[in-house]
Amino acid sequence: MSSGHSHEHGSAEGLRAAFFLNLAFTFIEIAGGFWTNSVAILTDALHDGGDCASLGLAWYLQKLSRKQPDAGFTYGYGRFSTLGAVITSVVLIAGLSVMLWHALERLMHPQEVYAPGMIVLALLGLLANGAAVWKTRHGTSLNERMVSWHLLEDVLGWGAVLLGSIAMSLWHLPALDPLLSILIALFVLWNVGRNLRKVGAVFLQRAPASFDVAEFQRRLTTLPKVVSSHHAHTWTIDGEHHVLSLHVVVQNDATRDQIVEVKRQIKSECGEEFEHVTIDVELAGESCLDCHQ
Ligand SMILES: [Zn+2]
Ligand SMILES: [Zn+2]
Ligand SMILES: [Zn+2]
Repeated sequence: MSSGHSHEHGSAEGLRAAFFLNLAFTFIEIAGGFWTNSVAILTDALHDGGDCASLGLAWYLQKLSRKQPDAGFTYGYGRFSTLGAVITSVVLIAGLSVMLWHALERLMHPQEVYAPGMIVLALLGLLANGAAVWKTRHGTSLNERMVSWHLLEDVLGWGAVLLGSIAMSLWHLPALDPLLSILIALFVLWNVGRNLRKVGAVFLQRAPASFDVAEFQRRLTTLPKVVSSHHAHTWTIDGEHHVLSLHVVVQNDATRDQIVEVKRQIKSECGEEFEHVTIDVELAGESCLDCHQ
């Protein structure tokens, strides 16, 4: 029973570190904004405040996803982690849209910026967000990967500010800053879209990406005493832990030991990622309980 089910999910440690790094940097930005009297920096502090809320939520949902199954959530809480990926991507897409809008506006009406102050802040931003990316680099869940893309967006953003402000303090290139912003926004949007497709596949109960159910059923027919299989259904709880149910038809003269062996082989054919494998054994000629014919 429950002894064979480990519902251990990815570590939430990286998300916690990213949350506190972001929180600390938000306070630095607020102080820096008042110190330099810069509206741009205060606006970005607001953006980072939003990031803190999003990161905190991702961290909370990742921790929640480790909870053991109970009577209410019999498959466990894995989907709560995937929900975190949805929320992070919505926040990220909204942020990127605002960034694109401002960048296009700036491109049409270039403004002078105070380059030396930007260099200092860009270095601090690179340090804080770079450390957060480093802390979350081992995450395997869609939730953690989406957070990594969010943090990478911030790193690239500050990298662009740094390059842009260095270039702008040497030459007169006011269009460089918005151009870099647009390139980064498009690059991150592309990758968020890719990850969002995977999240969508999880919620729409698509078969696990690494699992070919037709090929799997073909392999089953090579097992001793197996005639055929039908009603093969598979989906994934969170992209990392999968579910499979299957009706397998065995020859009429199959013994108890042979049937047990067939079930054991099917389970091992599935692989480690399948935590819930349900097999209905039918004898050849027996009518199927799920076929209304
Ligand atoms: Zn079916
Ligand atoms: Zn189970
Ligand atoms: Zn059946």
